[in-house]
Amino acid sequence: MKIVMKFGGTSVGTGKNIRHVANLVTQHAKNDCKVAVVVSALAGVTNSLLEIACQAKKSDAKHIETVTKKLLQKHLEAISTAITSKQIQKEVSQITENTISELEKVLTGICYVGELTPKSKDYVVSFGERLSAPIVWGAIKDHKTETQCFTGKEAGIVTDSNFGDADPLMNYTTHLVRERLGPLLEKGVIPVVTGFIAANQDGIVTTVGRGGSDYTATILGVALQVDEIWIWTDVDGIMTTDPKIVPAAQMLPQLSYQEAAEMAIFGAKAMHPRALGPVIKENIPVRIRSTLHPDNQGTLITKEPNAKITEAVKAVALIKDVAMVNVNGAGMVGAPGSYAKVFEVLGKNNINIMMISTAVSEANISMVIRRNLVGRALSTLEIALIGRGTVSEVTTEDDVAVVAVMGANMKGTLGVASKIFSTVAKAGINIRMIAQGSSELNISFVVKEKDGTAVVRAIHKEFGLDKI
Ligand code: ADP
Ligand code: ASP
Ligand code: MG
Repeated sequence: MKIVMKFGGTSVGTGKNIRHVANLVTQHAKNDCKVAVVVSALAGVTNSLLEIACQAKKSDAKHIETVTKKLLQKHLEAISTAITSKQIQKEVSQITENTISELEKVLTGICYVGELTPKSKDYVVSFGERLSAPIVWGAIKDHKTETQCFTGKEAGIVTDSNFGDADPLMNYTTHLVRERLGPLLEKGVIPVVTGFIAANQDGIVTTVGRGGSDYTATILGVALQVDEIWIWTDVDGIMTTDPKIVPAAQMLPQLSYQEAAEMAIFGAKAMHPRALGPVIKENIPVRIRSTLHPDNQGTLITKEPNAKITEAVKAVALIKDVAMVNVNGAGMVGAPGSYAKVFEVLGKNNINIMMISTAVSEANISMVIRRNLVGRALSTLEIALIGRGTVSEVTTEDDVAVVAVMGANMKGTLGVASKIFSTVAKAGINIRMIAQGSSELNISFVVKEKDGTAVVRAIHKEFGLDKI
């Protein structure tokens, strides 16, 4: 059996956890499994890097040194617990020190130039995985198992140049990955690859979006034509809702690609939204499972929906960090192409629209986008549209959240929407916007962010999701 195993930030959060990961990997490798490993940055490191990258523009050398010292300390501590052999410890510590010293130089450069571009931001955040992968590699080597460490770029993952949210050039990537990792895998050598980071055709570092190590895993899984992709994380599988919101949330043993993709897009953080794209075509099963309970089978995602669960609603998700953009103007009424213009302006500026709703009156269009893009959306819409006859005003609300209620069996089931909305009304909460795609796989609506958790809890209870 050939498997790509991806380990998320919490799974490699400490030296002890990394030892556990190395045990899991080598146990499977001994059982006649050919394993390729994908690793995320240590928990919290990507966030720290993003923060320091943004501050570096106006920071001083002293502050940069304090942050990089802390990062060095954290990784050296992990090395000393994860790896027992002094020789390997020394080797990995040396790599870590060199990498941190490069990071310090990059941050100092940004500090002097006073500018952070999407390209340099990707370069800075790439250090998280560049620091974690060698430790996992060392811990596997500690088991006297043959292993080799790669960055995404070295493994052959080539993407477009959409820094911060790049997509792979799948044909080229497949060719390179097969050439570079294929023979190793066949020989039983375990490749350890940095998740999240890759490079464009010019070799410049790119990242595939937050939580992107899942995507790296499916890209490699497809390129290497593995039997299954296992996403190891800190929960038992994909659940009926985020267990941090509802502790009684239940694990869903089986989901179709379509359902899982819908859940990922709508915020079930357990999976990167675009990660299922590559595997759907190739029909490769994906399993989400827990490093804390490795004997559990987790959630299996395949082509077929689970025939056993017949309930209309399977899951509910809360998506925070979003904002609503409202474009108003009596001039849009009956004016062909006015919506297209709005979408074109946002699309050209790389602003993804997560949800759309319009009224029959055509005088208003409301959209949900990521909150960090609000400034860009407002300025580009204002420059392109205001004062040109159709749009009179663009407003935003950024204290909102989206609640998405999902399930393949919602299709054609009467009364689901009315049950959802009466539950929200009973909780005394106001709905700001509603959308239901024609796929009928989900109903999403916008509420004030402060009400989000209460709405999710109420719907989870009303549909009996704690008992399925
Ligand atoms: P990793 O670091 O392993 O990639 P993530 O933090 O990205 O892990 O994703 C796992 C987290 O996703 C869980 O700890 C859980 O709180 C959250 N989560 C949100 N919605 C769901 C859901 N429906 N099912 C499972 N986990 C969810
Ligand atoms: N380290 C990256 C992030 O935090 C990628 C990942 O963890 O999947 O977004
Ligand atoms: Mg993740």
